[in-house]
Amino acid sequence: MMHPTYEQLKLHADGALDDVQSIMVAVHLHHCDKCRQQLLQLEQDLASQSLVETESVFGADDLSALMERLDEPVEVKPSTPSHSSLSFQGREFSLPPHLNELVQRTGSWTRIVNKLWSAPIRDHDQDYQLNFIYMEPGGSIAQHTHKGLEWTLVLDGSFSDENGHYGPGELVRTDGELEHTPVSEQGCLCLAAIDAPLQFTSGIARALNPFSQLFFKTGG
Ligand SMILES: [Zn+2]
Repeated sequence: MMHPTYEQLKLHADGALDDVQSIMVAVHLHHCDKCRQQLLQLEQDLASQSLVETESVFGADDLSALMERLDEPVEVKPSTPSHSSLSFQGREFSLPPHLNELVQRTGSWTRIVNKLWSAPIRDHDQDYQLNFIYMEPGGSIAQHTHKGLEWTLVLDGSFSDENGHYGPGELVRTDGELEHTPVSEQGCLCLAAIDAPLQFTSGIARALNPFSQLFFKTGG
């Protein structure tokens, strides 16, 4: 299982993560008990920190009452049912509700190469190129490296590369050091945030570079 970084969770707890990453982390939390627990812990730490800071404002009695409440075990609530959905190629993907707004801002789907499709998400504030990516069953992306940092959130189905197999909710981080060849047997819908174009490395795939430029120009 690929998780957000500790730093991302900390920023998320603090409400300081940017909107795109915050949606990705929220969707991951939807799938991951371990990170939900860790986030609760971080939130409690933040809450007790701010209590210490406000000690002079509240009376000591108020404070100890509050501290007692904080010490109570926190129940991890089951995540809310998903009600966002995306249709493509006659399939209806049920997505976590956090994605509602992004789904509404989705542009039209374009075939990038053979079995790979993308749809840009318009009008977001960050510098990322933000796209839904769909790989049809049996699809693959030619070997490539990443010029910048990319976060890929698996939404439906799964894909594999040289380093592992990734299912729904997994947040896969790729950067300039990684050279990989993603493939998907059953098909895979992802949300990808990229801060620079892909660079294809294998011989045949060099021909795809114009497509990758076209592809990444459509984002943002
Ligand atoms: Zn996790």
